Amino acid sequence: MSVDLNTLKTPGPTITALSRPFWDAAAEGRLTIQHCEGCGKAVFYPRPICPHCWSKRLVWKDASGRGRLKSFSKVHKPGHPGWLPAAPYVVGLVELAEGPTMLSFILPGTRPQQIGDMLLLAPTAIGGRVLPAFRPVEPRAEEKPQ
Ligand SMILES: [Zn+2]
Repeated sequence: MSVDLNTLKTPGPTITALSRPFWDAAAEGRLTIQHCEGCGKAVFYPRPICPHCWSKRLVWKDASGRGRLKSFSKVHKPGHPGWLPAAPYVVGLVELAEGPTMLSFILPGTRPQQIGDMLLLAPTAIGGRVLPAFRPVEPRAEEKPQ
């Protein structure tokens, strides 16, 4: 993938009153998710009621930005032509350290993606807006197999 992602002509997100804090934070390069003051669990995607205990006491907190690749797909034929210059690219299910799973754009690393890869938040300008993408944590030299 050698294309400048920010030059893509991709449709933007549909921002609602409920999801606005998420997108406002993304524009600043942060990942913010809801936390429940009733049961203490983290919640994603944005909702009016906690899916664990049904409390309405959800507050926004910045996530650590750490996650694990739960599943992924390499996209060769994008659903929208605006993504075509970037294909093939990888989208993945990121299990956040806080618990919830989110779908995200996975930036390429130095080796092919594998389930279980550790990921770090990598805010990336894509199609004229900053999205909370992730990139693989590269294994340190001493952890590489001989
Ligand atoms: Zn709850």
